[in-house]
Amino acid sequence: MAIRRSTTKRHGLPTIVQLRLTPAPAQADALAAAVQVCNQAATVVSRLAWHHRTFAVVELHRLAYYEVRAQLAGLGAQAAVRSIARVAGAYANRRATKKRAHIFRPHGAVPYDARLMSFNRDARTVSLWTPTGRVTLPYTGRPEDLKAIDTLPLGEADLIYRRGMWLLQIALTLPKPVVREPVGGFLGVDQGVANLAVTSDRVVLPGPALPGPVGGNGHVRTLRERRHRQRRRLQKQGTSAARRVLRRLSGREHRMMTDLNHQISKYVVREAERTGRGLALEDLQGIRSRVRAHRLQRRTLHNWAFAQQITFTRYKAARAGVAFLLVDPAYTSQACPDCGHISRANRPARGRFVCTRCGLAGHADHIAARNIATRGIAGWAVINQPHATGLPSPRRDRESKPPASTGGS
Ligand SMILES: [Zn+2]
Repeated sequence: MAIRRSTTKRHGLPTIVQLRLTPAPAQADALAAAVQVCNQAATVVSRLAWHHRTFAVVELHRLAYYEVRAQLAGLGAQAAVRSIARVAGAYANRRATKKRAHIFRPHGAVPYDARLMSFNRDARTVSLWTPTGRVTLPYTGRPEDLKAIDTLPLGEADLIYRRGMWLLQIALTLPKPVVREPVGGFLGVDQGVANLAVTSDRVVLPGPALPGPVGGNGHVRTLRERRHRQRRRLQKQGTSAARRVLRRLSGREHRMMTDLNHQISKYVVREAERTGRGLALEDLQGIRSRVRAHRLQRRTLHNWAFAQQITFTRYKAARAGVAFLLVDPAYTSQACPDCGHISRANRPARGRFVCTRCGLAGHADHIAARNIATRGIAGWAVINQPHATGLPSPRRDRESKPPASTGGS
């Protein structure tokens, strides 16, 4: 059985911490001016970059620095440098859309680096650059976030104005918690097309286990089907207006799926944490082969969604210290979790499992999730007690080198 350990990096977990700023009215005006001039600057630089087909940061600096400072009086040297780096980054991340100049929304989030902001951790204030000078602002946040800000090295931040609030989102790296022994076994999660996830506890996701309007799976499915029909219609039209709508549609669909995946992964990690279990999902390779029969477009969306769910779950599990494993997907949908009998005949109808040997019957996705959970337990044993299964551990290998030949016999 091939088991892959979680590939989350050992040294820590990159995350974003959000602080709420409480500026006085004059300070809020200064922040608004900062956001505006920085976004204007980025758009000016972006147009220059696009016009001259110059996207690398050093060349772009040479091209745009004096120009953008001449055009925007309030922009300081460091804010100009930061704008240029931001534009270079935007184009580097969007290779495909160099077709037109990237425009930065006038009120969009503005990045602040260490030279544009400084924290006073004792006073819980942050000093931010604005076109009219630095402003020093008190900040608040969740206790765990404040603790992270107090103790960890801080990365770049985004200054954001949203629904009447000034927010600072700061990138930092959390120390990785120690993974706890899954004393309660493993929670298996089967990913699928009809149901995004079914757990070995027989919980169907999205479903009533999730809070909010996505709770009812029927709702999501209807929405997806409506989108699908709409897309078909637009594809037939083939006009540029229709293509624009299509792009927006797929963006919205991706956002909806991302939101669902966040909620699903959050739920399964919390459930595993609460019950002292680890989490097991199928290796993506296997899911791919199972949905091969589906339409190309759906497959693309779903492949992306499956990969995303794995990424989210792995990350949240690592953050919570929950054991996480990807298991071999072979026959998870045809094997009987009670007697071990594997047969295609165990699947008499779509979505249904009936073991032809012992008679165990159930929802096919739930049966698959049980098999995944069992493989999680087995996989954990292989990783942690290598000698019990006869597999040599790498460390033992080093310790027990074959004895050097001493000659003689
Ligand atoms: Zn059976």
